[in-house]
Amino acid sequence: MRTLLKILAVLIGIFMMIFIGVQAYPKQHKEIQTVPVHTWNFLWDNIKSESKVDRPPDQVLNSQEWQTLDADSKPSTPPPGVEWAWVRIDIPALKGSMPSVWIEKAYANNIVAYTEYRELFDSNRQYEYDNNELLLPLRTEDAGGSIYLHMNMKEARTGIVQEIRFGHFYDLLTLYLTRDLVDVLLGGSFVLIGLVMLICAFFFHRNYIRFWLSLSIIILSIGLLVVSYSPFLFTVYPEYGQILQRLFDFALFSLLPSFLYFFQLIFGKGYKNIMFYLSRFQLGYSFFSLILLFLNVLTNERYFSIYFLFTTTILGVWMIIELLTMLAISIPYSLKKNKDAQIFNLGLAVFAGVVVFELVRYYASGQQYDLYWWKWGMVVFVISLIVVLGRRFAETHNQILQYSKELEMFNNELQRAEKIEIISDLAASVAHEVRNPLQVTRGFLQLLGERSASSDKKYIDMALDELDRASDIITDFLTFAKPGTENIKTLSISEEFRHIEGVLTPLASIHHGQLLLDMSADLYVKGNSSKFKQALINIIKNSIEALEDEGKIHIVAKRENGEIVIVISDNGIGMKPEELKRLGEPYFSNKTKGTGLGLMVTFRIIESMQGTLTFSSEKGAGTQATIRLPEASA
Ligand code: ADP
Ligand code: MG
Repeated sequence: MRTLLKILAVLIGIFMMIFIGVQAYPKQHKEIQTVPVHTWNFLWDNIKSESKVDRPPDQVLNSQEWQTLDADSKPSTPPPGVEWAWVRIDIPALKGSMPSVWIEKAYANNIVAYTEYRELFDSNRQYEYDNNELLLPLRTEDAGGSIYLHMNMKEARTGIVQEIRFGHFYDLLTLYLTRDLVDVLLGGSFVLIGLVMLICAFFFHRNYIRFWLSLSIIILSIGLLVVSYSPFLFTVYPEYGQILQRLFDFALFSLLPSFLYFFQLIFGKGYKNIMFYLSRFQLGYSFFSLILLFLNVLTNERYFSIYFLFTTTILGVWMIIELLTMLAISIPYSLKKNKDAQIFNLGLAVFAGVVVFELVRYYASGQQYDLYWWKWGMVVFVISLIVVLGRRFAETHNQILQYSKELEMFNNELQRAEKIEIISDLAASVAHEVRNPLQVTRGFLQLLGERSASSDKKYIDMALDELDRASDIITDFLTFAKPGTENIKTLSISEEFRHIEGVLTPLASIHHGQLLLDMSADLYVKGNSSKFKQALINIIKNSIEALEDEGKIHIVAKRENGEIVIVISDNGIGMKPEELKRLGEPYFSNKTKGTGLGLMVTFRIIESMQGTLTFSSEKGAGTQATIRLPEASA
């Protein structure tokens, strides 16, 4: 989570830097190098000049009806039947070589630009995109004269001109390029990411593909929207203008249903399945719009106004409704502290807020306002989507790790159980058969020892010792096979330890060690007394054998959450982690005379008492054994 936040912070930082850099750079340029002009003149064109002219007609040049306008004011309503207008921009004093004018925005379907004496430019567009950006070279002697724009307007926008600057051609060119380059870079990278994701989708598992596919379509569509909305490509490739415009519509049609679908995948169908119906409806509407798009292209835009009504005006209002619905659904999730929902919501809130604000402005200005901030809202939103997706993947990955760990543990447990099973079967039969002849042999040897000379007696005693050891081993095996499920009684812990202390204190003193007991008298468990003692003795004996000088063995018994907990800790040699792991394994021993059966038996006895035995140890520091047993009442 922390790393994800860091990545997010870095990404946002990078975006901010690019954004601020790009925004600041041209502004700085403007102030130093260029001359802004804020007002211009406007005139409706009543003369229907049929043939193309190469300079404005005299009636226009000498007209008394010019209105003065600025970026905020609108021209008066046109006289009936008038589709053309003139805009006159007075040229200030021009300094230096290569003077030029840059007109950031001029709304018209067609524009022809003149000075008093010559034609500068003819856009000659055959399609409906009415946003023009002009960069026109001038001559030094044009200073003091005017630029005349002859503009054709079919649609609502009426020849609005914004941001006019005069200056050196290269300064204006820089301004012009850097403004719109961001859009192309941003959109282009989104398209690339979207495409790569789309290709990746084919390699995904079925469970993820819907999630992934809808997200890649969202990103791809956003990229296409940003690229095709930018005036840059229209200026550089005017011949593809119509395709670009329809590409924008197409991207919008594919964005909306996939967006709603993605939302539905994360947040479910919502109150009364509202998301489900919304995304279904949007899918239908997108198809309908797509058909309209084809018809519009096939009829050569003859019914453009109908197309525009359905695919822009109505769709825009509909989008506001959809975004508000999504916000309404996702907010309760964030309040429930769902991290994914919070991240998603933050992105969505930024995006939806910006879009709603801009759409409202768009309609409030009579569809004159140009949407600008929406793409940055989208960037924020897409980042939040990617973070959510990444979190989902990380979560799944962790789950898989967890499962595989559990599987490994389970496997080990199974192997151990199998081994124990085999040994206990073998042990039961062999031990039983061997024990009798062993006892008989021991008896005869003892007899023999009493009669023989003292020189032989030494050997006979050694033989007896070894026989006792063999007998011990057999007892271990038998205990293992029958861990004492018979003769179950209620055992007093302090009582049991009193016996054990008596048996083991001599052994402890041989090893220069001390047994320290700490327990109350009212602790009881259920079990077979001799087996329980054997289990404890095995553990404590190991501790004693591990002691070095000034050895101490603490034995503490207490009650904890309805369990009896016995902790036996020594300050002996301790164990390495790999030794610790092998405890309880048959024949695992580090001692020259060890059998490696003691703990195996102990584990078995504790298990048969429904308890657990765990060890913790550190090489050189000591070992701690913890036994937990269900408490019994006295
Ligand atoms: P044995 O005592 O016959 O070697 P156990 O099963 O009782 O067999 O013990 C197995 C091994 O575990 C011992 O050899 C010893 O290396 C290690 N061990 C057990 N308890 C301790 C302890 N308290 N301190 C250090 N090592 C221990
Ligand atoms: Mg032992």
